[in-house]
Amino acid sequence: MLINLTDVLSCEEKVVKRTVETELQSFDISLGSFPLTEEKPLALILTNLGDDKLLIEGEFSVKAQIPCDRCLTEVEVPIDVSFEKEVDMKLSAEGRIDDLDETDFINGYNLDTAKLVYGELLVNWPMKTLCKPDCKGICRKCGKNLNDGPCGCDTVELDPRMAVIAEIFKNSK
Ligand SMILES: [Zn+2]
Ligand SMILES: [Zn+2]
Repeated sequence: MLINLTDVLSCEEKVVKRTVETELQSFDISLGSFPLTEEKPLALILTNLGDDKLLIEGEFSVKAQIPCDRCLTEVEVPIDVSFEKEVDMKLSAEGRIDDLDETDFINGYNLDTAKLVYGELLVNWPMKTLCKPDCKGICRKCGKNLNDGPCGCDTVELDPRMAVIAEIFKNSK
């Protein structure tokens, strides 16, 4: 959704509050597409700081479906985001991208909330997702989810250094 900024930029110290749906059903990045459900819509406070500077404060919450890093079970991960940005409307669009080092969510005199939310999700996306801290993962041999119990495979893997020693012993016999 685009929010026209001419109103807030019309006079100094003007404050505009808006609440908009994040409109995101999924979060698509190079790692894959992750379904999202909105928990709290995007609440924005736009403040004209004078001198063509705009302060954007916002917060929103989503729940993301992310597979566990070890066993691939879908985990519902709450992501709460709050941010504060100052935008200099005098700078060209290119200048602004360099300045903030992120996607350009200001398009002329419009604030693109979808781009803003996407950029914030990218920054706040969890680095690691586990279904539980001690997830046992899946068996590398048979693919069974080891949280459901042992699979019976011979999973005693030799330490690679030990394997070398074992080989030496075998050859010396
Ligand atoms: Zn897991
Ligand atoms: Zn197995």
